[in-house]
Amino acid sequence: MPDCIVIGGGVIGMMTARELTLKGLEVTLLEKGTCGKESSWAGGGIISPLYPWEYSDEVNSFSFASQEVYEGLCHELLDSTGIDPEFYRCGLLMLDQFEQDNAKTWLKKYQVSYQDIDDKALFENIAQIRNPRLVKALKKDIEIRGVKVIENANVSDLLIDADAIKGVKYNEVSLHSENVVLSAGAWSGEFAQTPKEVFPMKGQMIVIQAKPKEVEHIILGEGRYIIPRLDGNVVVGSTMQEVGFDRSTEDIIRDELYDFAIKYQPQLSKYPVKYHWSGFRPATRDNEVIVQKSDEIEGLYFNTGHFRNGLNMAPACAKKIANLIQ
Ligand SMILES: Cc1cc2nc3c(=O)[nH]c(=O)nc-3n(C[C@H](O)[C@H](O)[C@H](O)COP(=O)(O)OP(=O)(O)OC[C@H]3O[C@@H](n4cnc5c(N)ncnc54)[C@H](O)[C@@H]3O)c2cc1C
Repeated sequence: MPDCIVIGGGVIGMMTARELTLKGLEVTLLEKGTCGKESSWAGGGIISPLYPWEYSDEVNSFSFASQEVYEGLCHELLDSTGIDPEFYRCGLLMLDQFEQDNAKTWLKKYQVSYQDIDDKALFENIAQIRNPRLVKALKKDIEIRGVKVIENANVSDLLIDADAIKGVKYNEVSLHSENVVLSAGAWSGEFAQTPKEVFPMKGQMIVIQAKPKEVEHIILGEGRYIIPRLDGNVVVGSTMQEVGFDRSTEDIIRDELYDFAIKYQPQLSKYPVKYHWSGFRPATRDNEVIVQKSDEIEGLYFNTGHFRNGLNMAPACAKKIANLIQ
């Protein structure tokens, strides 16, 4: 019987499993499909909330704590797996909002400064990771460390007896453990025990196949962003669509994202759109995360509801849950 079962093989579940195994616990991770192919693959990989003043102190503190460890974590993953998550401190150039009162208050409170470049704000310290590579490295790393990863394992029920968790049921198999972490991303809301609503918020993205260094920084404006990868690919996003688990992509959105990119980086107009995809953010109505133990069921923990910030908050949230379990 494992010391802990983790439900969901996204960035949150895998980082939680990693922290637990680093503490010496025996962990089984159950993933209903293939690890790292949902939101954690689809996202942009910016290691910061977009407009951080829109978020609570809790979200900001998870973000700051994660920003401190991300670079080192990526080095560890590269060393252990040979897969480079491409941590890249390219900076973020913000075009709007930074002069609003709430932004000014936030910048002062957290002592964050920026460079003024032609009435735009350059946050030099903001980094990105190449999230499809991060999740690939994470899966390999946790398997090397002894986490038992079972894919195509669809958890249908939590096994509960006398207000204590006893394990889970997946594919008609009962697996017992006295600790279970629910980190099923946008699907976490399918479990009745989740303390508040978690629902899918679809985001569509495109990638433009450009040459390296065509775009210098992440550009953020009008709520949209342009992310230059090291190899020249430029990711552009995104939409916020509450449409359930509808994965379809729309040509009109692809064109809008492309037009946005060209408006601010006209040199991209000579390059084509290579892919267009969508993903489901694990959203909450109040923008708050659910990183806590259950008040009602002993041994049940939640690490979910990360909405737009799961990639950037993952290390600190995983650490918090591992500490609670230990
Ligand atoms: C377009 C877009 C852009 C984004 N950009 C950024 C960004 O720049 N920076 C940032 O920090 N965040 C970003 N995000 C948000 C970020 O991707 C998410 O917050 C994060 O990936 C959530 O991780 P997760 O592990 O909870 O979810 P997921 O990656 O979705 O993983 C959940 C996993 O649980 C599995 N699962 C579900 N139900 C079950 C079950 N019953 N049994 C077993 N397994 C189950 C799923 O198959 C899935 O693999 C973006 C998201 C999107 C969609």
